[in-house]
Amino acid sequence: MVVDLRYGERASMYSFFSTFKLSGVAVSAGVQKPAPSRFYVTRYPSDDEDNTRATTPPPPETTHHRHVHLNTGDGGSRNLYVPSVASPQKRPRSPSPQHQWNTEPLPDVHSHPFIDPAYQHEMDLKDCDLPKRKRTKSDTPLLNWIPDIDVFLKEILRLEGRGDYAQDKTCNFCTIEAPEYRCEDCFGGKLYCKKCILLLHSRNPLHHIEKWNTMFFERTSLKSMGLRVQLGHSVRDACTNPLSSYNNTFTVLDLTGIHQIHLDYCACQTAQPRHIQLLRASWYPSTTSNPRTAATFRLLEHFQLLTFESKASGFALYNTLSRATDNTGTVPPPDRYPSFMRMVREWRHIKLLKRAGRAHNPQGPGPSSSTQGDCAVICPACPHPGRNIPDDWAERDDK
Ligand SMILES: [Zn+2]
Ligand SMILES: [Zn+2]
Ligand SMILES: [Zn+2]
Ligand SMILES: [Zn+2]
Repeated sequence: MVVDLRYGERASMYSFFSTFKLSGVAVSAGVQKPAPSRFYVTRYPSDDEDNTRATTPPPPETTHHRHVHLNTGDGGSRNLYVPSVASPQKRPRSPSPQHQWNTEPLPDVHSHPFIDPAYQHEMDLKDCDLPKRKRTKSDTPLLNWIPDIDVFLKEILRLEGRGDYAQDKTCNFCTIEAPEYRCEDCFGGKLYCKKCILLLHSRNPLHHIEKWNTMFFERTSLKSMGLRVQLGHSVRDACTNPLSSYNNTFTVLDLTGIHQIHLDYCACQTAQPRHIQLLRASWYPSTTSNPRTAATFRLLEHFQLLTFESKASGFALYNTLSRATDNTGTVPPPDRYPSFMRMVREWRHIKLLKRAGRAHNPQGPGPSSSTQGDCAVICPACPHPGRNIPDDWAERDDK
């Protein structure tokens, strides 16, 4: 096979890969029946900004070609099957009849302007073997939605008010007190009295609460309404010796925003240290001595997964949480960004140790008992006696 690389052009992995595929098809077409190509052409441009092949004319071919002979084959004629524009002196190449292109119609970028190129590429790879089908109304959901824009807008605006519960005279839980509060995060949007909404949120202390002030719903908080979160005991199990957090306030970073709460540690005789009490509530403490901030495990887990899939920074996520808390900028939440990044770093290290099985080490999980390479991912292709080769491989005759 002959691979042609052009000087001065840094070929991306994508174009290099497609060159390989193309040459494979072309060679087989010249000798025997062409193999069905699994390569699928997409219309979106390459994300390699250095790859200017699509937009600028290629330079003259006089000195800009290098031929790398990887395999000269049977010594017969050598074929050059690299898609490139021919030089003006040569006969223009015919539109490559030997290539087997997949002609399945792709989503049009003009009718699907918001499609993520990565998603489209995944769909292309999935759908290239599917038979063609008749297009139905559900293929154009955006067009179907346009007549309903007014309805959607009105329904969303309706939720700004009390909606179905505007006529309620009493709380939907105790049916005694006046209904004034609702939760933005609980399902249903029912209105409750203050006592009941506090009771209903003893298990969900990080929900956003709104109060109906006869004109509109205004943001309030479970903290300002008097909710106290007790650690070290099960929910609704009172502690006889509660110890308030520093300055009677505590910051919790969660997926839903940055929350200020009243937090009580347990100071009973059997109480655990404060950071342990937080960990047992699935809240990651920012420090080990007298923490003032914690992040929920689900936030740390979420951010780790987010970084697997996106280029979002910790700062971007923190600012998103800040906006979720107050998007007007008039009541900015306390700045806990350095604490957040420290917790993220610690979290990743803990996860690394957990996945490497360090917690089950008889000598203890800590750094003192570990040796170099303990947390490395074992290569599945390398020979490991007892796993992918026999234990006695060295003594066996057929090795
Ligand atoms: Zn009530
Ligand atoms: Zn709620
Ligand atoms: Zn639940
Ligand atoms: Zn207690």
